[in-house]
Amino acid sequence: MRLCFGSYMAVLVSCKAVNVDNKELCEALLHSVAPNFEFTYDGQENADRVREDVSSKLLRCEQNLSKDVSDPARTAGLEEVASYFRNNILPMLDRNMSKQIILALKDIIANDPPVKVGNKMQGIDGDTKVELVSGITKSELVPKGDFCFHTFLAGVFLYTVTNTTNRTGKATIKSITDEYILSFTPRIGEITLLEDDEAKRGSLVSAVKESGKYGEEFAENVAGFVVDRINQLALPSKQDDSLLVTLLSEANGNCLKCGKKLGIPKRGKVPVGNCEIVYLKQSPNESECYENAVVLCTDECAPLVSVMSEIEIDELLEDKRRCANIQAFLDRISGIKFPEEIEAVLREVHKTKNAKGLEGTSVTDLVEIERKIHEPYLKDKINASMARLYKTVKVICARLEQEIGFDTNMFGGLMRSASMMVEGGVMKNADITDPQEYIANLLVDKLYSQMGQKYKDACEIIVGYLVKRCDLFNENAKQS
Ligand SMILES: [Zn+2]
Ligand SMILES: [Zn+2]
Repeated sequence: MRLCFGSYMAVLVSCKAVNVDNKELCEALLHSVAPNFEFTYDGQENADRVREDVSSKLLRCEQNLSKDVSDPARTAGLEEVASYFRNNILPMLDRNMSKQIILALKDIIANDPPVKVGNKMQGIDGDTKVELVSGITKSELVPKGDFCFHTFLAGVFLYTVTNTTNRTGKATIKSITDEYILSFTPRIGEITLLEDDEAKRGSLVSAVKESGKYGEEFAENVAGFVVDRINQLALPSKQDDSLLVTLLSEANGNCLKCGKKLGIPKRGKVPVGNCEIVYLKQSPNESECYENAVVLCTDECAPLVSVMSEIEIDELLEDKRRCANIQAFLDRISGIKFPEEIEAVLREVHKTKNAKGLEGTSVTDLVEIERKIHEPYLKDKINASMARLYKTVKVICARLEQEIGFDTNMFGGLMRSASMMVEGGVMKNADITDPQEYIANLLVDKLYSQMGQKYKDACEIIVGYLVKRCDLFNENAKQS
């Protein structure tokens, strides 16, 4: 056996995730140290063909790695390469095969003794560091059972790239087959995969122990202490990314209190600056959870939370709930089944065409509701994902007009009752802070009950469409 880039890659190729190409995997590996590296091949111009050819030659040990890869590998930042492996290589591998990969690489390394070939030495000596991130030697690797997977992969990769000649594996590369990898399955109990923290701890313990002066217990304590401190330091930047993304998406990327634009980071990416998650507790022993979490701007609003009154906290929480509800609503209506629900409601409405409550009406009635209230959340609703859905409603209406003689004007009945409610005192009722929302909700309720309490979201969209249609008519009326 020979450890080289080809044999290393052959192990990973046997354990790829579904739909990962060899050439993609090969490229991703080399990009860990040479991000701009591109395969070239004399006489071949088709770039894809070149990638294919070169990666399969590397995999068969028929070609050596380019200096453009091995040179930067010698000076690459170890932590950076390791985290690149965690983020970019692990997703390309079958998660069920991590232990087989480790066992296979251990086996190849153990069976690669130093031998004289011609006037050169090949193979690995016991004192040679074979995993360059943690610096573990070939002899130390033999009894080792605890592994931080991505670190190990990165470290062995760096060794193969900087210390081995790929062609030297040509004679033995054929023995690294799927069967060879699978032969390790009965032994996976020998391997324990460590999380980052445990791995850090593990290497610290052995580092302190190695200094010779201190006992095991002392080493353990030091390691525990150091890892705790590291975690404390890392805490602010490690703030739950996905919670932050959720909260910011719900708040439309704004500070919930002052409305300042904070932005919405992509999941998995480091969050945007000037914002933090604050937990609004209504009693001191309340736990921190999604329900009481909000995102506020760091420079102004977050520091104010500690001096906020109970009422102010309640108001902020109320805002948060509204935001969350709207987001949940938007998530639901983005489903592929949703147009079908709209159609179902419209068909149902059509059936009740001649029943009381949905009498036909003329377009002029639709212009009646002039007192549009600009409620921010409703407006957001209407403006964001709605436009697309209104189109859907319109298209379905038009199709049903052809198919079943659907009469769009019958919605006028709904709108007429709405305008009557506006005239008839909704505005004067002090309990109703937002007449437009109030009326929209009544219309939704009406449609919803007509539907036998089904497809509430579709009802909301259709009512939203009506409201929007009024907007449009108003615009037209103004222009003419
Ligand atoms: Zn090779
Ligand atoms: Zn703010």
